[in-house]
Order: sequence, then structure tokens, then C-alpha cells
Amino acid sequence: MSQAPASPERAALHAFIARHQRFLLTTHVNPDGDAIGSEVALARWLRAAGKQVRILNDSPTPKAFAWLADEGPIEVYSEPLADTRFAEAEALVVIDTGNKQRIGRLAEHIARHVIAVAIVDHHVTHDGFGQVNVIEPECAAAAVLVYELMREAGAPIDAVSAMALYVGLATDTGNFRYSNTDARALRMAADLVELGVDVSEVMSRVHQSAPPGRLRFFGEALSALEMRHGGQLVVIEATPEQFQRHGLSGADTEGLVDLPRAIEGVEAVALFSEVEPGRVKVSLRSTGRVNIDGVCARLGGGGHPHAAGVMLRGTREQARARVLPELERLLAELPPAAGASLRGTAPVRGAGA
Ligand code: 5GP
Ligand code: MN
Repeated sequence: MSQAPASPERAALHAFIARHQRFLLTTHVNPDGDAIGSEVALARWLRAAGKQVRILNDSPTPKAFAWLADEGPIEVYSEPLADTRFAEAEALVVIDTGNKQRIGRLAEHIARHVIAVAIVDHHVTHDGFGQVNVIEPECAAAAVLVYELMREAGAPIDAVSAMALYVGLATDTGNFRYSNTDARALRMAADLVELGVDVSEVMSRVHQSAPPGRLRFFGEALSALEMRHGGQLVVIEATPEQFQRHGLSGADTEGLVDLPRAIEGVEAVALFSEVEPGRVKVSLRSTGRVNIDGVCARLGGGGHPHAAGVMLRGTREQARARVLPELERLLAELPPAAGASLRGTAPVRGAGA
């Protein structure tokens, strides 16, 4: 240990790592940059400490982040593979979610195997199902937690780990624009640059990997955006037909819900994305004044105060009927906005994914 752990939970995680040898790492379904980046850095830390490590996720790794795993595979769920990986491992570390159902089909395997579980997460909504739960919602990204844990452990942070952590930090803060961007996140970014991260190189790998269909799809969805509640609420929809016609998957909506935040006066954005008929992924965003995680949590989902989501069964129309009245109620309770020049200056934390 080269620094004292910042909390008893963190000390318990270091002890958890010390007492196990064979690790399995996982994260939430439809992993984002923070999920993949944090897994890769954690895996490299554990391997450098002489541990055996596998990474297994419910969903495939988006192309934007796949390059981070060049040297160690991130495997994708199949039932026999999961049975093998759970049987081989002594310990499971779940990163970037504290909700058992969010790890998808891997959740069923926890009960079937004798395996110790630790959680490293930064979400407000969690059920803390690990023996060890390091859950710190004040961290802008899970990558912040992994980075600080690595520093506490005196773990080497090589060029790939630094890039992986940077990807996690930059994506979850919307490239240091969202309200979770704090001094700690910016200091960490500076440290990572000192450790060798080439910001423009890393960001072009992440942001220049889209197929053309993705932009055409964004264009269609955005040109049909609806302004509601006096311009405070933007609603966008994506249909199964659009996903099919453009050859896209659910992960391709990444970033879409964030774009209407650019419209002046917008307080919240709702995206209803129906990838397969009858399954609607709801993504909510706040520009800072309303906390929207409760709306998702009440429907079985969750997230952060300014970025949350939930998967609903039924039609888009039914999903809208469950979400929009509640969102509009929250907006109706808002005091009038201060002048445009002051918007977003309150020290609120917790956005980002
Ligand atoms: P996104 O809308 O980008 O999928 O997710 C925004 C935030 O909400 C992320 O922090 C994500 O982890 C969380 N989130 C999205 N969908 C769900 C869900 O179904 N359940 C929970 N608990 N959190 C979710
Ligand atoms: Mn995250």
C-alpha cells in the first residue's frame, strides 16, 4: 500500500484483492467508455499484481472502446462460457454498477457458484450486493475510483491503463462539460496526461469510429425532435424500423440524448429508443436544475441525478405515458431560471453516466 485507503470500504477492497488470486471482472449491459475503461485498467492492475484475470460482459464491447482491449480479451456472454469463467474464478469484481440486474445474464450465475463479490461503483441507485461495496456517487466516473484505488495500492499505471482511465473519465463527464466535472476529475486528467495520454489521439479513437448510418440516424431522430413544456423538455424517439434500415444496434444511440442539451432553455431531454418491438430504452438527461434519476428509479431503473435510464416493456406510447407526465411535474416545480448567463453555475454534482 503506498497511500492510506480513503475509507474502510476501500481498505476492505484492497484486502479482498490481496486474499484472492483468480478474478472475474464484469460491468453493466451495453457498456460505455467508463465501464470498459475501468475494467481494462483494473484488469491490468490485478495482472501486474500477479493475479489471474478474465473480463466477461453481458454485451459486446462497442467499437469505439474495443482498441483498449487489444492485449487482453473482453469476452461476451454465452451460458457455457459464463459457467466456465465463474467456475474458474474465486472472486467477481463488478464495476460501474451496483445493481445486480444491470450485469444482465451474468447475475444468474452468481447464485449458482461459490464466488466472492466486490463492487466498485459511482451510481446513486444501487443495491450493494457485494461482500465488499465501494460505492462513491461523488466520483465523476468509476474510472476516478479505479484510479484512486490504484494510487492507494501503488499499482503501476502504464500507457494503456492511463488511456483506459482517461476514456472512462472523459466519456462520463461528457468531455469535462457535465456537472460532475470537478477539480478532482480535472486533476486526474492532468495526471493522466503526465503519464503519457495523448488527449487528441485517444479522443479521435473514441469519437471517430461511427459508421455513416449512425449520423444519418441521428439526423432523422433530431429532425423529428419535439419541444414540450414551453421549450424546457425535448423528446426524441428511435424506432425499430430506423435501427434496421441503418444497420444499427441499441448501443448506436450513445450520445444522441446529449445533443438537445445544446438548445437554449432546455432543462431535460428524454429519448425513447425502441430497438426491438416492445422493448423501449428510456434515457433521461437534465441540464442541471432538475434531478431525473427518481423518475427512472420508480420504474425499476436508475442512474445519476442528471443522467438516468430504464428499460420498459410495451410500446413507445406506453413508455411516454409513464415517463413524460412525471417529468413535466418536476419541470412545473422549477423556479424561473436565472438569466441565461447564470444557467448551470450552481455547484450541483452527479451527472454523467
Ligand atoms: P444511458 O441513458 O446513457 O443509458 O444511461 C444514463 C445513466 O443511467 C447511466 O449512469 C446508466 O448506468 C444509468 N442507467 C441506464 N439505464 C439504466 C437501468 O436500466 N437501470 C439502472 N439502474 N441504471 C440505468
Ligand atoms: Mn460510469
